[in-house]
Amino acid sequence: MNIKIEEAAQHLSEVIQIKSLSSRIYEEIDFEPFLKIHQWLKDTYPLIHQQANIEVINTGALLYTFKAKAPKKLPLLFMAHMDVVPVDEKTADQWKFDAFSGTIDNRIIYGRGAKDMKNQMVAFFEATELALKEGKEFDYDLYFCLGYDEENGGLNGMAKIVEHLKQQEIKIGTVIDEGGTINNGIMGIPGEFALIGVSEKGFANVKITAKGIGGHSSMPPIHTALGKVCKAASLLEEHQMPIVVSDVFKEMMNTLKPFLPSEISSSLDIEDSRKIEAMIANMSSANALLRTTTAVTMAQGAPAPNVLPSVASVMVNFRIIPGDSIDSLVSHIREVIGDEFELEFQQRSEPSKISLMDEEYQLLQQTIKEVCPELKAAVPFVMVGATDSKYFDDICDHIYKFGPFKCSDEELKTVHGVNEFLRFEDLELGIRFFYQMLHNYVK
Ligand SMILES: [Zn+2]
Repeated sequence: MNIKIEEAAQHLSEVIQIKSLSSRIYEEIDFEPFLKIHQWLKDTYPLIHQQANIEVINTGALLYTFKAKAPKKLPLLFMAHMDVVPVDEKTADQWKFDAFSGTIDNRIIYGRGAKDMKNQMVAFFEATELALKEGKEFDYDLYFCLGYDEENGGLNGMAKIVEHLKQQEIKIGTVIDEGGTINNGIMGIPGEFALIGVSEKGFANVKITAKGIGGHSSMPPIHTALGKVCKAASLLEEHQMPIVVSDVFKEMMNTLKPFLPSEISSSLDIEDSRKIEAMIANMSSANALLRTTTAVTMAQGAPAPNVLPSVASVMVNFRIIPGDSIDSLVSHIREVIGDEFELEFQQRSEPSKISLMDEEYQLLQQTIKEVCPELKAAVPFVMVGATDSKYFDDICDHIYKFGPFKCSDEELKTVHGVNEFLRFEDLELGIRFFYQMLHNYVK
């Protein structure tokens, strides 16, 4: 394998310069940058474009298919989103270089999309182009899927690609999407750990409304409509949904156990949910991994300080852990706050299913180890954010949300933030990972 990293870095820089912002509303999307990316891919990766069948889906999304003569296994699928989030005007002056300049400085590529996730797209294109150059023939069907509105929910891009695959009754063996990365240190344990998202939480924005009598505030009832909904919100904070000790959490703790100090690992009993609950009581990140979270985010009352609200509402954002559901959430809310409030779900999605942690998971783990020998372990987890790969739930049992790049917690803040960047060596690691994956998938 002969990776020309300067060239690959140049490629990432070029595609960062195509300012590919998207929208939730199809009519509002400017497709020009996405069509530019299509052309850029064609110019940059000629062998891929000679050998793959390429379909444009719903104006801007791309589906690449490499058909094997005699597939030995269900297909392998790499996916990415071409869109990026905009730069916040308030922080624009904190960027070292313009966010869409793709500046390369001291073997670092800067710009929006350098980590989320033009890096991953470039890495699997580079790896595949390289494999084809070496004459690699695949014993399995290989797909690339590129969406254009992941940062806005993915309904027009990736969801439509999956619909298209479903129409042809195509099943996928393994999907690799963005998600966890290779982190230095986890739960206080030093060393490199690969975090593999095997599921993602669902989501619900629930507007809780109460009606009042209105009128002047000089002769109020004991509880105004706003007072009532605030009390409801506070009850929901106090009475959280119970923790769910899922197979993912168990596998995570079993993987980490050998690395924990003996006094902790000996007292760790993952079957005892009360002990776990006590342990995570003050850890918001662990809490988010184990239960449906409750965040009261907005409130609305009267239009003036001296007016009684005739109607008032609070908005609560729930992130639903696999094991819970929209239905169980509704029952929980009713149980805690009673029936006198009106509930309106403004946005909702069920948690995704949990991918199998079987031999395909082992294969992924093995591949990461091969390209990153210093790795201590790969650890499964439930993603708290949403990605496009949830759309594959019905047609794939192995959806792994993993970006093969090293990333510290500090660096993670540059994603959707200021000075997003990628090191040359990380891009190289990503290319080597996808190259190895192409070779390991069928041996
Ligand atoms: Zn992303």
